[in-house]
Formats: sequence, structure tokens, C-alpha cells
Amino acid sequence: MPHDHDHPHDHTHEGGGGQTLPSDMALRVKALESLLVEKGLVDPAALDAIIETYERRIGPRNGARVVARAWTDPAYLERLRADATSAIAELGYGGRGGEHMVAVENGPGVHNLVVCTLCSCYPWPVLGLPPAWYKSNAYRARAVSDPRGVLAEFGVSLTATTEVRVWDSTSEVRYLVIPERPAGTGGWSEDDLAALVSRDSMVGTALIPEPRSRGRGA
Ligand code: FE
Repeated sequence: MPHDHDHPHDHTHEGGGGQTLPSDMALRVKALESLLVEKGLVDPAALDAIIETYERRIGPRNGARVVARAWTDPAYLERLRADATSAIAELGYGGRGGEHMVAVENGPGVHNLVVCTLCSCYPWPVLGLPPAWYKSNAYRARAVSDPRGVLAEFGVSLTATTEVRVWDSTSEVRYLVIPERPAGTGGWSEDDLAALVSRDSMVGTALIPEPRSRGRGA
């Protein structure tokens, strides 16, 4: 299948090389922005501030704090299960892209993977801006048709009996994966636990290795 050669984790495609859609999209966005600024409908400084906020101040460290709290506070985990939007707001995170959050928990025999097949909906308040692979056509298509294949390419190998649940985000509902707390972290502080939680583990394209096995190769 000659049209199927993109690999969702291939970072050389970042920025749209090799595909016409992202660069065309970037041009269209630029044209639209210029027009809005020219007509005085948006302030370029305000746009810069929004982008700066999502690039630097809001990011996966927010989601990591949610995960670490869920790992250490059973009452918080219950609230997260019951109403993730509110539980996430308790930690100060919310707003655009996070109005209707659902937390999906990995556990023994269950692995969750998040995608947006339609476009690139992503839980901005807890994860920041989506990585290029999340927006790629290959990931969006194959996360649904071949989730195990996609996971294998990300280096995630699951036992044959593990159930893979794929969640399709929309502009309405967005998902945060609560990865499994790695063994060997008993008694760790919330800060230390949060530092273990990677962005990809909260999308479902990575597992969190046991701390002692880190550095011995993945
Ligand atoms: Fe989308």
C-alpha cells in the first residue's frame, strides 16, 4: 500500500514535510491571521500571548500533577472518575479544550489510547499543544484500525490478553489517560511521581517504566 508509509512517530515529518496538508494548512492559517489583523478584528499581540501560553505555561506537567494526585489520593481518584473536569479544576486547570474531560485508567489487562480521528482535538489545559504525530493522518487512521501496530511502533508492547481501548476525542469530550503507577515508587512524593509521568503516557502511546529500569534501555 504505497500511500500507507507514514509512521506516526516519525518526527522527521514534524512541521509537515512529506505531506501537503500541514504546510497548506499553515499557509491558510497565516493568510487568515493576516486578514483578521488587517481588518482590526484581532490583535497580533493577543494571538502571540495565547500561543505563548499554550506553548510554555500550559503543558503536560499539568496532566502529570493530575496523575500523581490520582495515584496518591484515593478520594481524588474517585472524584476524577466521577467528574474529571471538576477534579482537574481542583488543581487549577481548565478552560478551552478541557470543558468536558474524561479520565481513562490503565490497569492490569487494560490499556487506553487516545486519538482524534476527525482532526486533532486534544486536552489542552492538561497536555498543552498536541505533538505533530497526534495530528498526522497516519496516526489518526491507524490508531483505530490497528492500535496494537501503532503502539508497537511507539515501543509499547502489551500482552496478548491486554484489552486496548481506543477513545476518539471530539470538540466536546477529551480524554486523559491515567497510566499505571510503576512498581518501586511506594512512598514517593507527589512531586517525584509527577516527574515520572510523560506526555505520551497520558495519550496512551507510552508506558511509564519502573524507575530502576530507567537508563537500561527501553
Ligand atoms: Fe479533533
